[in-house]
Amino acid sequence: MDRNADVIIVGAGLAGLKAARRLTDAGQSVIVLEARDRVGGRTKGGEIAGMAIDRGGQWVGPQQKRLLAEAAALGIETYKQYDTGRQVLHRKGRRSTYAGDTPSLPLPALLELDRAVKRWNREARTLPAEAPWTALKAMDWDGETLESWIRRNLWTDGARSFARIVARAVFCAEPEQLSYLFFLEYLRSGDSLETLIGVEGGAQAEKFRGGAFRIAQKMAEPLGASVVLEAPVRAIEQDENGAVVRTDKGDFTARYVIVASPPALAQRIHYARPLPARRDGLTQRMPMGSVIKVHVAYETPFWRKAGLSGQAASDAHAFNVVFDQSPEDESRGLLVGFIDGDHAIELSAVGDNARRQHAIDALVDYFGPQAAHPIAYDDQDWTAEEWSRGCYVGTMAPGVLTRFGIALREPVGRIHWAGTETATEWLGYMDGALQSGVRAAEEILARG
Ligand SMILES: Cc1cc2nc3c(=O)[nH]c(=O)nc-3n(C[C@H](O)[C@H](O)[C@H](O)COP(=O)(O)OP(=O)(O)OC[C@H]3O[C@@H](n4cnc5c(N)ncnc54)[C@H](O)[C@@H]3O)c2cc1C
Repeated sequence: MDRNADVIIVGAGLAGLKAARRLTDAGQSVIVLEARDRVGGRTKGGEIAGMAIDRGGQWVGPQQKRLLAEAAALGIETYKQYDTGRQVLHRKGRRSTYAGDTPSLPLPALLELDRAVKRWNREARTLPAEAPWTALKAMDWDGETLESWIRRNLWTDGARSFARIVARAVFCAEPEQLSYLFFLEYLRSGDSLETLIGVEGGAQAEKFRGGAFRIAQKMAEPLGASVVLEAPVRAIEQDENGAVVRTDKGDFTARYVIVASPPALAQRIHYARPLPARRDGLTQRMPMGSVIKVHVAYETPFWRKAGLSGQAASDAHAFNVVFDQSPEDESRGLLVGFIDGDHAIELSAVGDNARRQHAIDALVDYFGPQAAHPIAYDDQDWTAEEWSRGCYVGTMAPGVLTRFGIALREPVGRIHWAGTETATEWLGYMDGALQSGVRAAEEILARG
């Protein structure tokens, strides 16, 4: 095993692997040190009732050009998310269905929501991509939470609860935990709220045949033995000559290091020379969201016959966002969904059986009594993953982006930072992870 390289990369998620590929293409030697016994990080494969599933990241939208290009180059095809039929909205214990993108809310709530979404998109577009903290209103927006914004600006119950469902679904955090500026920055980096939550033309438009988890696996293949698994990085030391990276598999040395893990994990590494206050402060203030991804399999996609798309959202059930994940040949029915925010923290503690029952009860409310008879169940609790400690993404409360945001991408001596949290486009998504890997690699190449 080589113990010295031009660049050591911490983390074999999409960001780390992309950085490694960019550097090796440019003739640099790399070693990728990964704590887990697999590559892929927040993408992960699984199986239910004979079907391959993504237990982590899975969808891709037409705007996510980097991810689409990466997958195409690796020979991984995409196919459309099933989006035919009516959607279910379960609110205040009552179920309604609707067609298209306009939820079944009372008219005053819809008008208010429409105004709010337009305003969010308008304000998001005023943020400078590389430095949202310099926006004219950045301090004001970073001075309040999304929840306080909702309470000050939305009056109808319907608009309030829909905004909260959306916040939870997109960030896996409660709106009280999110800075309004960070919320706007997320919208900017992902185009608009409609794009973030949309299926047709949005971020949930397509899936990868065989699973998104295959992208990282295929990216790692040409790197061969330079990817070292089960090698958690415990400490990084650096001086004018280079860096020493200490792992459970011994020490490695390099000229430069890219830490390609989320800030909450980067914080657990010991830096022999303490990081500058701004960088250390940032990593103390970017907690991961909380999510459990659930798959429930049936003999058939019975909801399709009832004219339903398999999509559901709820303000009451913990299993509150659901999509149709059935195979293209309809040989089985498969629903996928998320338990997020506070619900994930609560249900992480109750055990598999209680979680399973909770999810099935919710599906019965959304899709009828046939949902009570699944043939298989699978859940992936990301809060329990030692090397993710939550998902989808590190989030920011008020006062963080304006005061510490500048440290997201700023190198510290020989250490550079990657990972989807550092992306300026598609922050939080697989596409953003790829962008961050390329950016960090190019920073190092530019140093010569
Ligand atoms: C349930 C779920 C659903 C999602 N859905 C989507 C989706 O539909 N579309 C989409 O685009 N995105 C989605 N995402 C988000 C997407 O998966 C992530 O944005 C992306 O995979 C992040 O990649 P990354 O390389 O930045 O970080 P990671 O994948 O987290 O990679 C970091 C790596 O660093 C390793 N590591 C951490 N600490 C150390 C250490 N000390 N030493 C060595 N290694 C270490 C970790 O094990 C990990 O492998 C989803 C995520 C989840 C969990």
